[in-house]
Amino acid sequence: MEFPLERAHLPSTGSALFETVAALDAADPLARYRERFFLPDGITYLDGNSLGALPRATPARVQAVMQEEWGTGLIRSWNSADWIGAPQRVGGKIARIVGAQPHEVVVADSTSVNLSKLIMAVLAAAPHRTTVLSEPGNFPTDLYMVETALATVGGGRRLQLAEREQLVQQITDDTALVLLTHVHYKTADVYDMQALTAAAHAKGALVLWDLSHSVGAVPLALNTCNADLAVGCGYKFLNGGPGAPAFLFVAERHHQTLVSPLGGWMGHARPFAFVDAYEPAPGIARFLCGTPPILSLAALESGVDIHLEVDMQVVSRKAQALAALFMELVSARCGAYGVSLVGPPSGAPRGSHVSFRHPEGYAIMQALIARGVIGDFRAPDIMRFGLTPLYLRFADVVQAVNTLEDVLRTESWRASEFQVRQAVT
Ligand SMILES: *Cc1c(COP(=O)(O)O)cnc(C)c1O
Repeated sequence: MEFPLERAHLPSTGSALFETVAALDAADPLARYRERFFLPDGITYLDGNSLGALPRATPARVQAVMQEEWGTGLIRSWNSADWIGAPQRVGGKIARIVGAQPHEVVVADSTSVNLSKLIMAVLAAAPHRTTVLSEPGNFPTDLYMVETALATVGGGRRLQLAEREQLVQQITDDTALVLLTHVHYKTADVYDMQALTAAAHAKGALVLWDLSHSVGAVPLALNTCNADLAVGCGYKFLNGGPGAPAFLFVAERHHQTLVSPLGGWMGHARPFAFVDAYEPAPGIARFLCGTPPILSLAALESGVDIHLEVDMQVVSRKAQALAALFMELVSARCGAYGVSLVGPPSGAPRGSHVSFRHPEGYAIMQALIARGVIGDFRAPDIMRFGLTPLYLRFADVVQAVNTLEDVLRTESWRASEFQVRQAVT
């Protein structure tokens, strides 16, 4: 075990804590990955679950694609630099991270658009099933995409919401699709993918997993879990850059039966035959729509490549250890100020972020950011901290808790500049 953290023996302050944390950082098998990322001086970055840090290799790679492939290669680069194959090539790399076959994953569009494509494809393939099942408090875009798909092609079918404890009982012969976010974006609660998928299959329903807070954060084994469909983000734990394209997974057994509602030419069986009639590509490529964003794909590939070097089990164990340290220290030192943990308790399965509730969470987060500790805020009262094992040290967690305690003790969050809500929180 690389990250021994005996909770009973964890000192919460002082030089004993300093020594414990120094030992954890010294023994960290992932420590050398930190230098692969650009991290500004004086910043403790706890928001890699919302926008992953910039890999140091990325600017040169994007520059090369611009200068050599675009500048010099021009249109020839669609073939000579295999731009045309980039969605499948990068998809094949992501497949290794999510436990799928390379031809089951493709990079395309945004997570929202991919959700819509797969929801509509399932609705079309299961015309006699009347509901899409999800949970209240799922990520908003997931619910909005179901609502708007149903309003467009639902024909009277409806969205049903059930709390996670009741979800399995609510899956019936009427359920077309169960749509769930594998790691919850606020609480970091995690579903048992294998058990839930089996329960849905027992009723003949398909499951669509949103992996936005899972990919690059927790070990995934889509094929072992017999998963049907999945989508996920490129700009969070995969470090693909702001607005990086997303990916989608369709299990091979569904390739012939599911058809994209957005039959763009890039998803055609023969895009360059320029025929009038739509004919979906035989495999995963049918879920492509328009021309792929090559510059963004280059940045995404650079982020994905780092993840191919590491063992996700080790990444996940470090994430759990970082989270355990963070939760222990906050509960010992900040609990008295009204900060309480949201989501799984220490030791329980969880994603790679930790959230705390406080009625003044927004202002407290702004005060933290002003002091170089960057997390984010999710309405109405959640302070969220992403723990990214590839570039965070145990010492960063201590630094964050020291700052949080100081902000709470001095009530520096009361300053008027921290009360103003910005457009992005
Ligand atoms: C971040 C996130 C998204 C983002 O979707 P976009 O289309 O990229 O804006 C979707 N689902 C979940 C669960 C997310 O956390």
